[in-house]
Parts: sequence; C-alpha cells; structure tokens
Amino acid sequence: MEGSAIRLQGLRKTFGETTAVAGVDLEVGDGEFFSLLGPSGSGKTTVLRLIAGFETPTGGSVALGGRDVTDLAPFERDVHTVFQDYALFPHMTAEQNVAYGLKVRKVPKAERLVRARKALTEVGLDGYGKRRPAALSGGQRQRVALARALAGRPRVLLLDEPLGALDLKLRERMQVELKTLQRDVGITFVLVTHDQQEALTMSDRIAVFREGRVEQVGTPAEIYERPATAFVASFVGTSNLLQGESARRILGTGGVHSIRPEKIRVHKEAALADDPGHATATGTVAEVVYLGDSTRFLVDLDAGGRLTALQQNLESSAEDVAAYRGTRVRLSWHRRHTVQVPGAV
Ligand code: ATP
Repeated sequence: MEGSAIRLQGLRKTFGETTAVAGVDLEVGDGEFFSLLGPSGSGKTTVLRLIAGFETPTGGSVALGGRDVTDLAPFERDVHTVFQDYALFPHMTAEQNVAYGLKVRKVPKAERLVRARKALTEVGLDGYGKRRPAALSGGQRQRVALARALAGRPRVLLLDEPLGALDLKLRERMQVELKTLQRDVGITFVLVTHDQQEALTMSDRIAVFREGRVEQVGTPAEIYERPATAFVASFVGTSNLLQGESARRILGTGGVHSIRPEKIRVHKEAALADDPGHATATGTVAEVVYLGDSTRFLVDLDAGGRLTALQQNLESSAEDVAAYRGTRVRLSWHRRHTVQVPGAV
C-alpha cells in the first residue's frame, strides 16, 4: 500500500498459555481512520499495545511509516495513545495537561503553551484552558486528552475505547466530532472498539477480530453488506442467518446466509406475492419490539429458524404494530440482499 502508516506482519503475542494475537497481517494507510472491532478478549487492545510499543511481540513485526519499530521503545515511536480513562493529571489545568505532553516530547518551553492553546481550540475547548479536570465534564476531559495527543502531531493516534465512559448521547456526538477532527488534522487514527455502531460511524476501514485473528478487513459498507463469514455477519449488525434445512426450503440452497433485518418486509400472510426477484418465507410473529422510529419483528419461520425484520414506522402506531404479535405473516426480501457466508457461527 502506498503511504502506509502502519504495517503489521505475522504479529503474534502469547501470555503464558493464552494466545492473545495469533498471527495478524494488517496495513493501515496514511490519514486513514481505521478501527479494530471485535468482542471482548479477541486481541484488539493487545494489537494496539504492540503498535504503541507497550508490549513486545512473541513473533512478527511492526513498521510505522515504512520503518521497522519492533524493537523500539514507546517514546521512540511516532505514535500517541489515548486511553479510556484519559489519564489526565488532576492537579494540572487543561492547558498544563496538554503542554506536559509536549514537554515529554522535548518541545521548547516557549512553544508549548501556544501549541497547547491551539490544540484545545481544535477540540472545541476554547476558554477552558485554566480549568482542572475536576471542573470539566466527562466529554470535556475526553477532549483534553485528545488535545494532548494532537498537540504533539504524532503520525499515528491510537485510541483505546476512548468514548466508553461517556453516556450514549454524548458518545454519539463525540463520534461525529472525532471523525471530523480526524479529517481536518489528517492524522492516522486507529480505534479499538467492541461497539459495531461506533466502528461503522467513524471508520474508513474496519478490521473485525475474532480469537486473536482478523476475520475480515473492509469499508463499513463492505463489512455490513458483504460479511465474509458468519461470525462477521452476526457480530456486525443483528444476527439474521438462514441455514441448513430452512435455507434449502426458503432459498433453494443449503449453506449459511445472512439477510439484514431492514431489508425484510413484513406482510399479512394473505397479501399478494412479490415478483420472482424476491425470496419469501411464512411464519408466526413471536415478538414485536416497538423502538419509536421503527419496529422489530421476530418471526418464527415455518421452515425452521427465526428471522428479525426491521420496519420504519412510517404510518403505523405502537398499537398497530403490537397487534402483529402471534399473527401469521409472510416475509419478503430482494434476493440480492441474501449474502451467502462460509462457515458456521
Ligand atoms: P476487551 O475488549 O475486553 O479489551 P480485547 O479484544 O482488547 O478485549 P485483549 O485485551 O487484547 O482483548 O486480550 C486478548 C486476550 O489476551 C485475552 O484472553 C486476555 O485475557 C489476554 N491478555 C491480555 N493481556 C494480558 C496480560 N497482560 N497477561 C495475560 N493475559 C493477557
């Protein structure tokens, strides 16, 4: 890859009997927003720590900007890590916290304060420089930690679940802000998250981790619409798989198939059939989950198995959709939205 910021080759890390990273090859482009997504214990944080230099690999190599840094100490690498707990000094003001990061990087004293103020402006904290962390909200503290990371203008910024401590609303706002900020400063971001929505919202590309390995690398759309394995299909988005006998009866072919819930329409059983481009399946509504803007229907299929369908509540009210519980329905979706995935979950 031209202008590769990070290149991991055959990366392995074991802790005693535990294999945390089982052979990872990855390349992250310059200026990319790249996420490591996976369930707890899949090795994401360990990969991040290997890039930062906080861990030494059992095997393989780490290169940054085309230079092998496998044997270099963390401070010799042009990366900065933002941790979930922000790691701010409580006795220092926001400005001093940011400037301290520059001191460690040996930036001359006169320059530190100017750059610290500029970094605080970048993250939208103009006027908060004199406050101590205790006088800032969670989101503002997170911004100070970001400013400290950005002030040093590292080549790569590593973020370990940086929004994990924030409430949902603030987290969603920060996701958008973080993405905009990254685009503006042009620094390569590598984000560790177990939250698929977060990864889909912010990333240029995502690597999906499972048991120390990368299961798939792709853009959010590729990962979501073309999951390479059954694991990716069920980890990213709602698990909605047809397999075995029910797949044979409904789709006319065996194997494992993924269909996204929002692609499936719910009709009364007696409604007219769709055109031949559609797959259909009859069943009974086991559960109706009213979500305000949309409704989730869990349908037990006559052919076996269960599918979830998600419908926008364009005209239907909560009472309308609740009436579906226990009724017979016919599901339909366009055949091109059926994605065959290798393997079992
Ligand atoms: P989470 O989302 O929960 O942080 P993760 O995907 O980041 O999970 P890692 O923290 O990389 O996963 O851990 C991968 C595996 O390695 C886990 O089984 C973990 O228990 C183990 N592990 C990680 N660090 C150490 C360590 N210092 N000593 C022993 N085992 C470790």
